[in-house]
Amino acid sequence: MSEHKVVLITGASSGIGEATARKLAADGHHVFIGARRTERLEHLVQEIGDANGGAAFRKLDVTDVADVQSFVETARERFGRVDVVVNNAGVMPLSPLAALNIDEWNRMLDVNVRGVLNGIAAALPVMRAQGNGHFVNIASVGAYEVVPTAAVYCATKFAVRAISEGLRQESSGDVRVTVVSPGVTESELADSISDDMAREDMKAYRAVALPAAAIANAIAFAIDQPADVDVNEIVVRPAASAQ
Ligand code: NDP
Repeated sequence: MSEHKVVLITGASSGIGEATARKLAADGHHVFIGARRTERLEHLVQEIGDANGGAAFRKLDVTDVADVQSFVETARERFGRVDVVVNNAGVMPLSPLAALNIDEWNRMLDVNVRGVLNGIAAALPVMRAQGNGHFVNIASVGAYEVVPTAAVYCATKFAVRAISEGLRQESSGDVRVTVVSPGVTESELADSISDDMAREDMKAYRAVALPAAAIANAIAFAIDQPADVDVNEIVVRPAASAQ
């Protein structure tokens, strides 16, 4: 394994973010985790510490650029550097466009797209000043194909891929960029679906789900590559899933 890194993870209070914090801390990295449910974060930091891992947390709302900047600055002050940012926070309140759930569209755009941009805005200057850094942006299989009820969600994930690819092209070897796109994975993501039809459809779709640790392992793989190796895209699906 490569040297131990300072890794910031957004949306680490459940699901993939939580599993990633556990995995990376077990691998010896220092994790700094953020989300809005701080009691969950506090508990996770305690568990990681009890297992001799290095972890700290701070309340974070990724839709607020000043808050994300402060999150990154707190990590830099505390650990001296910011090696990796895992832009993981996301929401998925699926519904048909005709339902006109405009508030939910806006929430997906705010968390899934602006949240990722805010993470980049906050950490890119720090990484440039250090001379290196790594963004791991969590997209989805929905970043590659669109299905009914998921138009806006997929749009946000297409956007994550586009932003990541642009960032990669603009980086001159100092900042690595990885998109990790999970297929269906055990987490609390589907809890945000308020539309009855979309929630029913999701139950069948989510019958075959990967453990969140499977995605954490893919993230760890990308992070642990040598500095001159930039793993750009990883898609991880359950073997039994066609989508
Ligand atoms: P969860 O719902 O379990 O986790 C989502 C996390 O995002 C939570 O920790 C939540 O924390 C956080 N979050 C939501 N809004 C905000 C906010 N405004 N500011 C900070 N944190 C926020 O779902 P997953 O673990 O599945 O989701 C993680 C990522 O994986 C998402 O980007 C999702 O789109 C993606 N993904 C998941 C798949 C799956 O099948 N599970 C498939 C494809 C992609 P809190 O509420 O405490 O703020």
